[in-house]
Amino acid sequence: MGRFTGRSALVTGGGSGIGEATALLLAEHGASVLVVDFHEDAAQRVADRITHGGGTASVFVGDMADEQAVEASVQAAVDRFGALHLAFNNAGIGGPLGPLADVDLDGYRRLIDVNLNAVFYGLHAEIPRILASGGGAIVNMSSIFGLVGDPGAAPYVTAKHGVSGMTKAAAIAYAAKGVRINSIHPGYIDTPLLGVLPEETRTALVNQHPVGRLGTAAEVAEVVAFLLSDAASFVVGAQWTVDGGYTAR
Ligand code: NAP
Repeated sequence: MGRFTGRSALVTGGGSGIGEATALLLAEHGASVLVVDFHEDAAQRVADRITHGGGTASVFVGDMADEQAVEASVQAAVDRFGALHLAFNNAGIGGPLGPLADVDLDGYRRLIDVNLNAVFYGLHAEIPRILASGGGAIVNMSSIFGLVGDPGAAPYVTAKHGVSGMTKAAAIAYAAKGVRINSIHPGYIDTPLLGVLPEETRTALVNQHPVGRLGTAAEVAEVVAFLLSDAASFVVGAQWTVDGGYTAR
């Protein structure tokens, strides 16, 4: 029996990168997984891998910056699996780069909608369903940039710090009611989000991680699965780094 047998889970941004690795890992340990993404083909590919491996998965296509789509995705998890116990609010994008005063404000607003507001909408829709399902856990995707700054990524830093605060507020409100909520703070992870990096940029990024390399999506998924599992039963409102030592410097 897997550690998530009998649990149902929702993973946003589940069609790629960290979300994909997490959806696969949760399913491997017995969870029924709703793979939520912009891209139907990507989400379906992940769901197919789960079902071909003997697991249970379903797909929901939508933009998590749209509160109605978020609400519908969470309701879909309940409708399709009969309950919702676990959620990973992970969908996110890179944002406008450069000094703050030069940032395009439409780009800023879109980044805040996707990387910050979508997480709030997620919690708003998930918490009542998880409570109604008898309790569970949520992990919100932040970043090292939810803990420290970066001079060239003010919108991203703003959104990810917001996720840290939102997580703490929600965590202490619902801890005693049976919903454990934590945030996760990866360093640079080798996923399609980073794109193809010029060798020089890649080396500069690697050098910021004392471990001497970038992380993998699978390494982040392991930590998310731990935080969602009963093994983390006393972990509440934590900002959990998985960053190869980036923030320890
Ligand atoms: P990824 O490989 O690009 O996967 C993210 C998936 O989510 C993509 O399929 C993406 O579609 C989708 N998505 C984006 N916005 C969405 C929306 N509004 N609604 C529904 N789906 C949406 O990225 P990743 O590296 O796994 O990143 C996942 C999360 O981790 C993000 O929140 C990111 O900020 C965070 N993170 C990443 C790193 C890193 O170095 N990779 C480090 C720290 C934190 P598109 O491809 O069309 O955008």
